[in-house]
Amino acid sequence: MKAEFDCDGILHPKAIEGLKLFNEGKFFEAHEELETAWRDETGEIRNLYQGILQVAVTYLHITRGNYEGAVKVYGRSLKWLKDWPDVCRGIFVKKFRDDAEAAMKELGTLGKENIGKFNKSHFKQIVWNEKRKWICDRCGSEMYEKNCKVSCPNCGNRFDCSDLNIYFD
Ligand SMILES: [Zn+2]
Repeated sequence: MKAEFDCDGILHPKAIEGLKLFNEGKFFEAHEELETAWRDETGEIRNLYQGILQVAVTYLHITRGNYEGAVKVYGRSLKWLKDWPDVCRGIFVKKFRDDAEAAMKELGTLGKENIGKFNKSHFKQIVWNEKRKWICDRCGSEMYEKNCKVSCPNCGNRFDCSDLNIYFD
């Protein structure tokens, strides 16, 4: 994984709200939360928020019967979404890209005249693992999580996600 993608961090809280709303089919509200996350965020990850935001707007256009709007905004989203690793900050980006592409293919098959027949089952949910910020219980440093292995860069303390229940009992 390339370091410049900064995929090991946690998601902005507003981005998490946006993902939840997206999965409830509340695309307008999802767009608003993601926009706040995009505005607050200074790192590269803001581009991923932007891409997801634009797919939310694309889907909103589809539900409102705006064919040209959907095609235009989806086209813009591609450049923000294309370069990310398959999973970034717990978001399954590749699946998200593939799902959006499939939805747009369906839209293209229907064509502008039949956009009203678009079946909303083509709006797939965004899959993500909500990452937590881990603080080492021995030395207080922020810990890193990768593939469910959590380790402390300071003292070497480590544990596995499968042991989580002992931390949250
Ligand atoms: Zn430590």
